[in-house]
Amino acid sequence: MTTIGVLALQGAFREHIRSVEASGATAVIIKRKEQLETIDGLIIPGGESTTMRRLIDQYGFLEPIRAFANAGKPVFGTCAGLILLAGEIDGSHDAHLGLMDMSVRRNAFGRQRDSFETDLDIKGVADGYNAVFIRAPYIERVGENTEVLATYDDHIVVAQEGHLLACSFHPELTKDHRLTAHFVSMVENSKRTLAS
Ligand code: GLN
Repeated sequence: MTTIGVLALQGAFREHIRSVEASGATAVIIKRKEQLETIDGLIIPGGESTTMRRLIDQYGFLEPIRAFANAGKPVFGTCAGLILLAGEIDGSHDAHLGLMDMSVRRNAFGRQRDSFETDLDIKGVADGYNAVFIRAPYIERVGENTEVLATYDDHIVVAQEGHLLACSFHPELTKDHRLTAHFVSMVENSKRTLAS
């Protein structure tokens, strides 16, 4: 059975647990870094990226999550989780985990559009995907090995770099589990590759 952990320091982790289970994998709430050894893939949820970073440091997660990803295990960052994965923030700020070659802008859709929903076509994953954006970031630039899977208003909102996946919105808040299911299949594939 494929086991996916959801980092549960802060933010929307319970809904992710449900979404992973609905996608046919086992879901585990991750609160201690030692638990990373028991999972095949990790979801970093939405919330508030600076608060989550503070808790990541407090609980000693920074290097263990980097090592987890560098060992080829998939990581999926959603909303604040996307910000944590990015190599560059707002053009200048230091990265947090800095695992993905992309630059992100926080709260990028502006005050007028604090929260909104839209239907997205996500390449190879889903057409007409109902995406919920909440004080969302977008991706301003991706590196040459990072594939753009979806845009909204000409801004990148889903990207994948090998075994790393990031989206601007909250995929756990609707009954549409197709993006989570895509991550589950990434984790299943990596399990096969890492075992061979
Ligand atoms: N704006 C938040 C941040 O900068 C992210 C919002 C979210 O995760 N819904 O961390």
